[in-house]
Amino acid sequence: MELLKKRILQDGIVIGNRILKVDSFLNHQMDINLFNEMGKEFRNRFKHKNITKILTVEASGIGIACIAAQHFDNIPVIFAKKYNATNLDKDTYEAEVYSFTKEKTYKIRVSKKYINNEDRVLIIDDFLASGSAALGLIDIVRQSGAEASGIGIVIEKSFQGGRKMIEECGVELQSLAIIDSMENNTVNFK
Ligand code: 5GP
Repeated sequence: MELLKKRILQDGIVIGNRILKVDSFLNHQMDINLFNEMGKEFRNRFKHKNITKILTVEASGIGIACIAAQHFDNIPVIFAKKYNATNLDKDTYEAEVYSFTKEKTYKIRVSKKYINNEDRVLIIDDFLASGSAALGLIDIVRQSGAEASGIGIVIEKSFQGGRKMIEECGVELQSLAIIDSMENNTVNFK
């Protein structure tokens, strides 16, 4: 998606060849015009799938998932929770995710109330790196008996291997921008 690539080149900050900081438009301040265009693009890429729900993970997937949902006839958005809390239902689907940005493993949880075996779920997230977060979300969808109908990613870093992991699960992956390398502070797209 050209608009997104341009914005990454203009405002993205490369940290040590592996992390891209996009706080000014995606992860901290959010550019809603850009989100709206990205939501439309997700709709175009997945309109053949009859999606019934969007699943993401807190916190940085929530904004784009909600805007995207408006282009899928306002279907519900569910976000997996990273922290257990007294107000979370006891009956949850759970999966383990390793975060290389935080260098730790954590559990994500979704209440069993919100996904069922008739759903066709689109998973949306801001980044794809090793694929751990996406695999955890696929795991949760499959535990519920629903169909993992696709994965929509804003920025894929292809050099970190996530695509292969997802393709092995047999889930369609669509990324709006695919970065091949980030050397010497330069972002190179596929
Ligand atoms: P994965 O599970 O695919 O290894 O990593 C994906 C998750 O890690 C995303 O949910 C995202 O929040 C975070 N992440 C991975 N790489 C980056 C990055 O370069 N920049 C930012 N801001 N987040 C990242």
